[in-house]
Amino acid sequence: MSFSDLGLSEKVLAAVTSAGYVKPTPIQEQAIPHVLAGRDVLGIAQTGTGKTAAFVLPMLTKLESGRGRARMPRTLILEPTRELAAQVEESFEKYGINHKLNVALLIGGVSFDDQDSKLVRGVDVLIATPGRLLDHFERGRLLMSGVELLVIDEADRMLDMGFIPDIERICKLVPFTRQTLFFTATMPAEIRRITEQFLHNPVRVEVSRPASTVASTTQHLVKTGREPHDKRETLRRLIRESVGLKNAIIFCNRKREVAILHRSLVRHGFSAVALHGDMDQQARMAALEQFRKNEVTLLVASDVAARGLDIPDVSHVFNFDVPHHPDDYVHRIGRTGRAGRSGTAITIVAPGDQKAVAAIEKLIGQSIPWAGHPAAEQEDASPHRRRHNGHSSTLLRGHNKKAPSPAHDEKVAAIGNGRAGIRPRRLGNAPQRPRDDAPDSRHLPAFLLRPVRVKA
Ligand code: AMP
Repeated sequence: MSFSDLGLSEKVLAAVTSAGYVKPTPIQEQAIPHVLAGRDVLGIAQTGTGKTAAFVLPMLTKLESGRGRARMPRTLILEPTRELAAQVEESFEKYGINHKLNVALLIGGVSFDDQDSKLVRGVDVLIATPGRLLDHFERGRLLMSGVELLVIDEADRMLDMGFIPDIERICKLVPFTRQTLFFTATMPAEIRRITEQFLHNPVRVEVSRPASTVASTTQHLVKTGREPHDKRETLRRLIRESVGLKNAIIFCNRKREVAILHRSLVRHGFSAVALHGDMDQQARMAALEQFRKNEVTLLVASDVAARGLDIPDVSHVFNFDVPHHPDDYVHRIGRTGRAGRSGTAITIVAPGDQKAVAAIEKLIGQSIPWAGHPAAEQEDASPHRRRHNGHSSTLLRGHNKKAPSPAHDEKVAAIGNGRAGIRPRRLGNAPQRPRDDAPDSRHLPAFLLRPVRVKA
C-alpha cells in the first residue's frame, strides 16, 4: 500500500514525499483511513512506529476546510511532557509545509502571555500538556467547546504521571460529539477504563506487542554492587568497553539520581548532558538538541523526561537503575534499535533488583541473558526464568556454571564496598586488562568475560 491509497489530500501527500517517506508504516496504513472517516481510534503503539504521522497527516487533511475562531481551538492534542508536545509541533511544521494552519503550544515553562496571544488569533491545532491547558481554561482564556477532534497521546505515560484525573476532566469539557484518537503503548486497567468511558465505538489498531518492536536490540543484564558508587563504576566500565558505542541514553529512576550521575560522568571526563523534570524548559531543549546533533555522547535521563522522544539513531541504552515499572523497560530500550538499526540495551542489576527484573521478563515474554553469567538464566529463582531456559549464551563456556545466588550477590556487594570486614579487592583471578584492551567480538565489554570467584 502507498500513501496515495489512504485518502490523504494532495497537499499532505506532497509533504510526505518531501519528507522522503516511501511507504506508510503499519499504524499509518491501518489508522489513517479510519481517522479520515471520522471514527474514534484506539491505537496501541509505541513511539518509533510512526504513530505521530498516523494522526498528524489525516488531521492536516481534515483541517483544510474551516478556520479556528478566537480562543476556540478546532483540534486538541494532549501530550504528557513538554518535549513530546514540542515534537508534535515540529511534526505539524514538517508535514504541514503546504498548509497555513495556526498551531499553538501550551506547555509549562513558557510565558502565559505569548501563549494567550496565539489563542486570541484563533487556533487550528492546540498541542498541550494537561496541567497548562487547564490553567488557561481556569483563567477563562480558552473555550473547549469548539474542539472537533481530540488526540490523547502516550496515555499510559499520562497514567504514570498522575494526569488521568486531568484527562477525564478535559474529556468532559470538550463536546461529546468530537472525534477521539487515543494512543497508548500498553493497556493497564485504568487506561482500559478511560477508553471505555470516552471513546465511542473505536476502531482498535494494534501494530505489535510493545516488546516485539525491540527485536533488533541486543539485551543484557550486568551485575553490580548495591551502592551507587559501585553502579557508577560499573557503568563507566561498560561505556568505556562497549564496542560500537556511538551514543547512549542512560536511564535512572529518579531525577535526583540523574543529576548526580550526570555530574559524576562529567567529572570522569565523559561527554554527557542531563534531562530531567526539574530542569527548566530551555535547558531541557538545549540538552536534547546537543544530544540529537551528536555534540555530546551521553544523555542521562529520567523516564518522564525521555518518554517518547524521537532520537533516531541511538546505539546503546543503559539502565543505570532497573525500572520499577516493567513498561518503562520497554519504553527505555525502545530508544535504541530504531528505524531498522541494531542497538544494545544493558541493564545494571544490583542485589535486590531481581523482582523488578522478573517482572520485566514476564512482560516481554523472554529472559534477558546475563552478560558474564549465562547459567544464571537457568538457575535464577524467578519462576519466569525457570520457564525459559533455552536462551543460554555460550560466551562463558567453561566458566563457573552455577548461577550466583542472592546471598552471593550480597557478598559481591559487601566485598565491592569494603563492608563485612573484608578489604575491597578486585573480583576474579584474572589479571586486570588495560581499559583499551581488544574487546570481545560479540560487543561485550572485556571485563564481563572474566570469571568471578568470591571467597567468603
Ligand atoms: P514516531 O513513532 O511518530 O515517533 O515516528 C518515528 C520516526 O519515524 C520519526 O522520525 C518519523 O519521522 C519517522 N517516520 C514516520 N512515518 C514514516 C514513514 N512512513 N516512513 C519513514 N519514516 C517515517
